[in-house]
Amino acid sequence: MPPREFLMIPGPTPVPDAVLQAIARHPIGHRTADFSRVLREVVNGLKELGETNNDVFVLTSSGTGAMEAAIANTVGAGDKVLSLVQGVFSERWAKISEAYGGKVERLKVEAGETIEPAAVARKLKDDPEIKVVTITHNETSTGVINDLEGIAKVVKEHGAISIVDGVTSFGACPVSIDKWGVDVLVTGSQKALMLPPGLGFIFVGPKAWEAHARCKSPRFYFDFAKYRKSLEADTTPFTPNVSFVAGMKVALGLIAEEGTQAVFARHERMKSALRAGITAMGLELFVNGPHGSPTITAIVPPKHISVDAIRKKLRERHRILIADGQDDLKGRIFRIGHMGYVFDRDILMTLAALETVLTDLGYACPPGKAVSEAVAVLNQLSSLFG
Ligand SMILES: *Cc1c(COP(=O)(O)O)cnc(C)c1O
Repeated sequence: MPPREFLMIPGPTPVPDAVLQAIARHPIGHRTADFSRVLREVVNGLKELGETNNDVFVLTSSGTGAMEAAIANTVGAGDKVLSLVQGVFSERWAKISEAYGGKVERLKVEAGETIEPAAVARKLKDDPEIKVVTITHNETSTGVINDLEGIAKVVKEHGAISIVDGVTSFGACPVSIDKWGVDVLVTGSQKALMLPPGLGFIFVGPKAWEAHARCKSPRFYFDFAKYRKSLEADTTPFTPNVSFVAGMKVALGLIAEEGTQAVFARHERMKSALRAGITAMGLELFVNGPHGSPTITAIVPPKHISVDAIRKKLRERHRILIADGQDDLKGRIFRIGHMGYVFDRDILMTLAALETVLTDLGYACPPGKAVSEAVAVLNQLSSLFG
């Protein structure tokens, strides 16, 4: 009898039992007062988490559906878009924008690097016609987090709208939509929000509504106007995944119970402990320094040991899943997700398992050092964060 498969990948992520129980219940009708009550609670909880008064719509789609919704409502044929590209997910914004006829300019940096607000400011100054800037807060393909506050400020000063992918940041670290002036932010259910894949969420601010009014791109399922009209009546325009909306209410309740700041601090602790353990093993972090992601860590494998072999052995021997690199980085890095329902035990277990696997594969791991270094960091940070 194999142990339960354990997800240390950047989505889907582990789901708390209370959420599993909620989504396993018989579906309720979506045109009922019961559903409206649940939806209202979810919307209010998401607004609180995003520190915003903007509308937030619940879409039955993966995160990419929410991304497509963002573009379909704001980018028309010939509109100039600046896409900040640093990996697979940030490139996805550029591709979706092109699919809707946008004239896309890419501000591209090397994999593992951040996008600097000053570089965005220079690009925008060069081209006053840019109307929309797409940003990926946390680039999951490399494990890098950007200064979203700084970038959004620059975009606002230029008079363009910021469209932000917060899929692997929202719910794991501060995202202050109104204070930072983010016009559109999308996220999804299966990352830090602790649900299975299946819901997308999209926050829409006043300047995005102006863009929506001008934008002539074809849209139907994802038309913001339909969601706004329905939300005024505490419902959705089409049949939503009612089970997951009920699960989302429970997940948001768990976050509120732990305390939002405590959840963010926990993500910082998991990140720091994992990084300390990886470094103690003698492995190289793909991204080092403060811009390392709080939710995903990319690691360079030891020479002569393939990412495939590491992932296969971890899965076969321990039933732990980790991720490969994507596109150009496939085989060059492996990635460990630590977002959502992830605690000390999970980090220590993953490090210990990784050590056994690397040792089996012939890498000279200093025995026990990864776990003991990680424990030291966990202890130190728990006394700091209380
Ligand atoms: C997971 C993820 C998405 C959404 O992907 P889906 O497979 O469509 O849910 C979008 N952006 C980032 C940064 C992600 O990590």
